[in-house]
Amino acid sequence: MSQTMARQDAKPLPTVSDRHIDPHSYPDGIAFLDGQYLPMSQAKVSVLDWGFLHSDATYDTVHVWNGRFFRLDLHLDRFFGGLEKLRMTIPFDRQGVTEILHNCVALSGHRAAYVEMLCTRGASPTFSRDPRQAVNRFMAFAVPFGSVANAEQLQRGLRVAISDKVRIPPASIDPAIKNYHWLDLVRGLYDAYDRGAETALVLDFNGNVAEGPGFNVFCVKDGELSTPAIGVLPGITRRTVFDLCAEEGLAAAPADVSVAALREADEVFITSTAGGIMPVTEIDGARIANGEVGPVTSRLMALYWRKHDDPAWSSPVQYP
Ligand code: PLP
Repeated sequence: MSQTMARQDAKPLPTVSDRHIDPHSYPDGIAFLDGQYLPMSQAKVSVLDWGFLHSDATYDTVHVWNGRFFRLDLHLDRFFGGLEKLRMTIPFDRQGVTEILHNCVALSGHRAAYVEMLCTRGASPTFSRDPRQAVNRFMAFAVPFGSVANAEQLQRGLRVAISDKVRIPPASIDPAIKNYHWLDLVRGLYDAYDRGAETALVLDFNGNVAEGPGFNVFCVKDGELSTPAIGVLPGITRRTVFDLCAEEGLAAAPADVSVAALREADEVFITSTAGGIMPVTEIDGARIANGEVGPVTSRLMALYWRKHDDPAWSSPVQYP
């Protein structure tokens, strides 16, 4: 699979508009908003934007590792698919968005970055209730890479709680449209914190395991991998696990994953652009198998990060 996002031209980088640097706690990064590149502290949107008022937005997040985008083409496919399904339009094509993402990273100077492209419904000049009157707004930003799991958690595995909250069903919101409908996930997180866990999984409408705040989940049983099939974002890291398993000759398939199956698994891990493949060793206070990070998880984690230097899976940021 080849990716075609390298900037062809050698144009000088655009300038960063530096009207007033807010010294407060914004991550160090660069945003693109209304045709300008800005420090994160300057990237502001109207409170009348439907993205803010109604969660009417779609987005995608890709990461840069060692100065290279990982699988940017797949993230662009998902983002443009979401725009189309939500009937949003932006004044940039795929190449234009690619160039903006490269510029945000290059201007930030980050070699490990969390890079987001997003589009909100925008606001209507007359505050009309008709979404067709709103002017859609495209934005992007690059901030330092962040992970769901910290270094210690990656080493020993995450402690997860299964909340009884139900993820918004696909008949309401197509989960393939990456979105900010996170109240179910955030309520699940509070359930997890209340029970002394570090993060949460929520359920699908049939009572099976769905996903967590910003990640998919896999279990390994007798050498075979499965991950919830329905009601979840088709994550790019999830897809990458399938691709790695195909290369390695491991069996992996989407399926219903019951709460019992997850508890009785040999290994469990979660997947996200924010952190990659991350082990889970405890669910609801009980250890998974012997409570140690398992061999399949460790092997996939190593392969995943190795692919970040492979030109078939990654492409270099054009730094100045
Ligand atoms: N599920 C949800 C709800 C997410 O928000 C995310 C990522 O943000 C994921 C799963 C993982 O998707 P990806 O691997 O594309 O980062």
